[in-house]
Amino acid sequence: MQSTDLVGFRTLVLIRDAWRATRGGEEAIRARQHDRLEKLVAFARARSRFYRKHYQALPDGPVDLSRIPIVTKSELMARFDDWVTDPDITKAAVEDFVADPSHAGQQYLDRYTVWMTSGSTGTPAILLQDERAIAAMTALGIARAAPAWIGASEVRAFLSRGVRGALVFATGGHFMALSMAQRAMHQGSWLKNIAKIVSVTTPVPEIVAELNDLDPTIVASYASGHMLLAEEQAAGRLMIDPVLLLSTGESLPPERRRRIEAMFKRSIRETYGASEIQIAAFECRHGRLHVNADWVILEPVDEDNRPVPPGKPSHTVLATSLANRVQPIIRYDLGDRITLLPDACECGSPLPAIRVDGRTDEILTFRNKDGDPVNVLPTALAATVTETPGLHRYQLIRTAPDRLVVRFEPEPGWVADTVWTSVERVIRDVLRTNNLENVVVERSCDAPTPISRSGKLRQVWSEPAS
Ligand SMILES: [Zn+2]
Repeated sequence: MQSTDLVGFRTLVLIRDAWRATRGGEEAIRARQHDRLEKLVAFARARSRFYRKHYQALPDGPVDLSRIPIVTKSELMARFDDWVTDPDITKAAVEDFVADPSHAGQQYLDRYTVWMTSGSTGTPAILLQDERAIAAMTALGIARAAPAWIGASEVRAFLSRGVRGALVFATGGHFMALSMAQRAMHQGSWLKNIAKIVSVTTPVPEIVAELNDLDPTIVASYASGHMLLAEEQAAGRLMIDPVLLLSTGESLPPERRRRIEAMFKRSIRETYGASEIQIAAFECRHGRLHVNADWVILEPVDEDNRPVPPGKPSHTVLATSLANRVQPIIRYDLGDRITLLPDACECGSPLPAIRVDGRTDEILTFRNKDGDPVNVLPTALAATVTETPGLHRYQLIRTAPDRLVVRFEPEPGWVADTVWTSVERVIRDVLRTNNLENVVVERSCDAPTPISRSGKLRQVWSEPAS
């Protein structure tokens, strides 16, 4: 069995480890966290030029997490070639690799999974995951998520109707959720036969037709994607009966959850993660997000990076990924607001539970030349715009049913007019695909404006709400 198989030997070992950790309770989780952190910090110091310098003043000996200097995305991306621990990797080479669309879902240097993210601060990031990190993620999904999400009634439904997954995500790029699926499919694994990718950049009627045809028993998408499907189901155009609904990449506020669950008459299961740390938390049977604390450390902190006690929302969160060695993420400012829940969960899990006040995307409603409403997911626009060469940060604002205002900032060294030509072209492509040639794309002279002190940048929205 090759180590790159979706469920290879390495994964099996990690599944067993995840079970043991959960059974062993808080102590077993903490022991793994400490041990993995020690090894990660030692590895980063030995193999990453960036961390060697960054940790110069850090004493040798046992690692005290609270004394480790914090890192930010812009700092790490600026020092990319010094940050990585494999000398064969350069930022320029990874950028070339990513620029070729035929590489989506393929591994860089045959051993690293590449993800790109614009992230909530608007600064693009290129993230590499090694095989151990992918194996750990897969193991956690099998050992922890599946048992929480698939009960007797789901098993019965899968046995009678089959397992058919629809992955409703942005395609074409190197985005986390899709990239994991594409990678598995690329290797000819079992996933290819049971899951189909449905791109959110295609017009909604086509998405609906494809799903009606597929009759999926599992639907995975962003929260806004599920909202869109719920509205289509309510209108009677979509007629599916999924057994399992999985939400990732955006927050799922309670009123949206209720709407989606009422429409499909099934519970929706949420995950929390980021491309930097993969999926950090899974929802349990009781609707709480439990952090996989044996593989990821989340520290809720205030404006001055001081720890925030349980029950209080943080200003940001410092994340440490204990699985990935190729690009160590250690006390990385993720920018999300989270609350550590103080009381134990009824499910009995020893893993800490959190609430996330993350990004929520609204569906954008435009009108075509005939005056008919056309829904577009913000993710569909963001996914294509994000990868425009030379684009540093941007915001897209639907200011009227036929108008989209674009604020943007080029990367240093790029000419704004050149970047604008590309940005406008990719936006027009998405609009044309949706039969929205009539929508005016307007270049704003304003720079993208953060909405909070942490520098969080909302990327696509309606003003006023559509
Ligand atoms: Zn729980």
